[in-house]
Amino acid sequence: MALGAEMSLESITCPPKATQEVLVNLEINDRCAFTAACGETCYLNSVHVDHARIPSASVLAAARAFVARGDIVRHLAIPGKEPFETPELLLEIARAFHATPEVERPASLGVISASLPGIQQWLPKFDQAPLCWLALSVDVEGSGLRAGDPLRVLDAAVSGRTSGGTKAVAVNTTFTAETLEAVVSLATRLQDYAIDQWAVCPLMVPRGLSMHSVVSEGTLERLVLRLGKLTDVAARVVVETDPDSLRRLVGETRWNIINTNVWRIEVLLPNGVWLFARTPRPGYFIRMRYDGELLSRQQFATLGVRAGRYGTFRSYSDVDDALERMRQERIASEKPDADAQQHTITRSFQVAA
Ligand code: SF4
Repeated sequence: MALGAEMSLESITCPPKATQEVLVNLEINDRCAFTAACGETCYLNSVHVDHARIPSASVLAAARAFVARGDIVRHLAIPGKEPFETPELLLEIARAFHATPEVERPASLGVISASLPGIQQWLPKFDQAPLCWLALSVDVEGSGLRAGDPLRVLDAAVSGRTSGGTKAVAVNTTFTAETLEAVVSLATRLQDYAIDQWAVCPLMVPRGLSMHSVVSEGTLERLVLRLGKLTDVAARVVVETDPDSLRRLVGETRWNIINTNVWRIEVLLPNGVWLFARTPRPGYFIRMRYDGELLSRQQFATLGVRAGRYGTFRSYSDVDDALERMRQERIASEKPDADAQQHTITRSFQVAA
């Protein structure tokens, strides 16, 4: 969907092994019924234009190659453009995932979707090869993103969870200063659904050659304070941000740095809200675009990129080559990290009682 799939559900649904370090985002198509409605507010509409598609058979081969590297791949996330636009392909990928022994495959296979008809019609058919998680993109009026009734999508997803098509259902919502109150109001509408996580993240827009958050730290702090009164809306309420903003926002608290010390920073604030920031380091994220280009995280946030930093997918060995290049990048970035060692942050974060 609009953003990269960060797979922030892992500590409540699918804990990875220590060696699994790479988050894979696999674009399985470039189609979405909301393309015109979302326009440039859609991250993907902004960063991807006019690239040739690779055939579905190649996308499936790439998915199999990433599944086979479960020794290193942490999560295989399918963010779109809209995965249920190519449901047979998605189902084949899920079958390939489940055909691989649990100890050999990634810790999870999951999907981000906003498609009501896709989820209604297809999610129950995944009962023999269930998704580990389904994250719904649910946005509020004024966000500039798709219109529609989010409760109907949620109904479909939750009933798909009941029928065994997915193990977990999460909701992703973008916010800006202008939509903050509407996002807070959305919480009351989500409350009856027993969702596994509600993740709220700043809207990103193109500025110059790359994508930027439109949210100030003051707005971020305001949102965190408001959500602190609403933590019963989901099993977990998460606000996603970047490491610098997180560092400035939190006070005397410990960083709960997941697994490798560099994967992601997760902080449980005293008001019950989780604050997440992904690692800024290279070598932990790869995105396969629908034309087979293997992009780094930085490339994925840049407009007009043609060639992937990690090459182009043509065969299994291209995935192995890309993962090896990423391993080299991780090794090169392993310098003493003041943040990871210090663990304690100084500025006080005032949380309302
Ligand atoms: S629904 Fe998501 S993927 Fe589709 S156009 Fe809108 S933001 Fe983009």
